[in-house]
Amino acid sequence: MVSGERFLLGPCSAESREQVIETAQALRDVCGFPFIFRAGVWKPRTSPHTFQGAGEAGLEWLAEVKRTFGIPVATEVATPEHVEAAMKAGIDYVWIGARTSANPLAVQAICERISGLVVSGLGASGVFIKNPVNADAELWLGNIERIEKAVYGVGCKVYAIHRGCGHKPCWSMAHKVRLARPDIPMLLDPSHMSGDAAQVPELIKKIEELGLDGAMIEVHNKPAEALSDAKQQISPADLTAALLDRFTVRPASPVRSETELNWLRAEIDELDDTLWETIAARMDVSRRIGAWKKAHGVAPLQPERYRIIGERLAVSGERLGLSKTFIDHIWELIHEESLRQQV
Ligand code: PEP
Ligand code: MN
Repeated sequence: MVSGERFLLGPCSAESREQVIETAQALRDVCGFPFIFRAGVWKPRTSPHTFQGAGEAGLEWLAEVKRTFGIPVATEVATPEHVEAAMKAGIDYVWIGARTSANPLAVQAICERISGLVVSGLGASGVFIKNPVNADAELWLGNIERIEKAVYGVGCKVYAIHRGCGHKPCWSMAHKVRLARPDIPMLLDPSHMSGDAAQVPELIKKIEELGLDGAMIEVHNKPAEALSDAKQQISPADLTAALLDRFTVRPASPVRSETELNWLRAEIDELDDTLWETIAARMDVSRRIGAWKKAHGVAPLQPERYRIIGERLAVSGERLGLSKTFIDHIWELIHEESLRQQV
């Protein structure tokens, strides 16, 4: 992949002509390498009461970025009508977002419109497909195939964007897709993956560690004033040349086995975090049970309940391939701490 296709940088939403042009200009000034300017104009928002995007007016601002700065531009499409409007406005690349990616019929309809327009000479240079909102590697792979089939042989490239699920990376899902389709470039979206600007620099390091091909990063000229995803956008100044310099010339790829180990370690780290979250949530419920017991004059230690839970955990744990000794150890530790939380 040429370096210009490795980074999609720009605001979550195109909000005004001024914001789009200022952000693009600042990015051009700070980035010593080619990139694609991104901005959403139709925003799939959770609430209908928040900013829904500037619509087709936003496409004009993107076209102006392309004309004025010579930077290729990208936007999100969620319907065949979006595809048509984007391509007519001269948008170079489109991406399919996580919510749309969860619906194979919607992806199919988009693909068919892209293919019709590509054949009639209006085509996009590339289509980026994000993982679905739910951790479904198979659906993501299916969507990659849907797009490939639609744009096969017409010079329009297909890229995967790993944006995680909610604000969790879901490395195991991305790892599966990477192993199944090492031929499809995979970009990281640290902004949506974390929902937190402070975590973006750390996540960017994963590009090298996991041998990924680039990133989509949300950059806004005034992040605090952003009309969507304000918490996760970084300023052009934060996206310093220093942060990205290391990627302008592709570093020697780590040997394959090391990349594989890094993927597995990313999976383990995420599972460990999940373990803590689950244990902490369990302690919270335990404290609430402790309060109930206190209010009703019931002793914290209930031997019968202790025995029943132990038996239940042995059955469910052994079904998952865990050893009885290990299960007993863990249950002992959890119970001890749980009691301590209740007294
Ligand atoms: C976006 O890129 O602005 C966006 C809406 O992303 P996602 O589909 O990953 O939520
Ligand atoms: Mn966003």
